[in-house]
Amino acid sequence: MNRKLRKFQRLIEALELLPSVGKKSATRMAFHMVLKNPMDAMKIAHAIEDAVSSLHRCKQCGGLSEDELCYICSDEMRDRSQLCIVENAKDIYIIEESGEYHGLYFVFEELGSTVIDNLKALLDKEPVEEIIFAFTPSIQHDALILYIEDQLQDRQLRFSKIAQGVPTGVELENVDTLSLSKALHERVKI
Ligand SMILES: [Zn+2]
Repeated sequence: MNRKLRKFQRLIEALELLPSVGKKSATRMAFHMVLKNPMDAMKIAHAIEDAVSSLHRCKQCGGLSEDELCYICSDEMRDRSQLCIVENAKDIYIIEESGEYHGLYFVFEELGSTVIDNLKALLDKEPVEEIIFAFTPSIQHDALILYIEDQLQDRQLRFSKIAQGVPTGVELENVDTLSLSKALHERVKI
């Protein structure tokens, strides 16, 4: 790239930081933003700035939130007897889209010192009776499920996991809504 187009080069490099965006798409997007539709580009820039500065993790579930507690954790109409454990905040969004689930969530991203404490804190606060694991089916996740169950064995809880319709190793975001609804509906007791 011509050295005189340093700012353009910087834009391409910034776009390439996004997941699934390679140099080719980043260059195409940069040309579009700068030459074809600068107004839309400004709109995107403002939306990113606004979202990044006002969104963070919910203190209770770890999902995306604009406030200390997300709209799900603070919604009194949710079924507080069910807790769905997901592997990332994005999966909450996907399950909500399916419209099949009305309980609470907890994001169990990776095993760390605080995540079990945070989960226990939630269980101390909410009258949860059933825990539904909505992890991508895999041997590693089955081991994690056993570990979590073990950590919570002194509590009166039922455990289940989504099964039917979610193929092994396929991430939730790639499962169609109908299959996901079916998987939640036909969850198996563990
Ligand atoms: Zn929350």
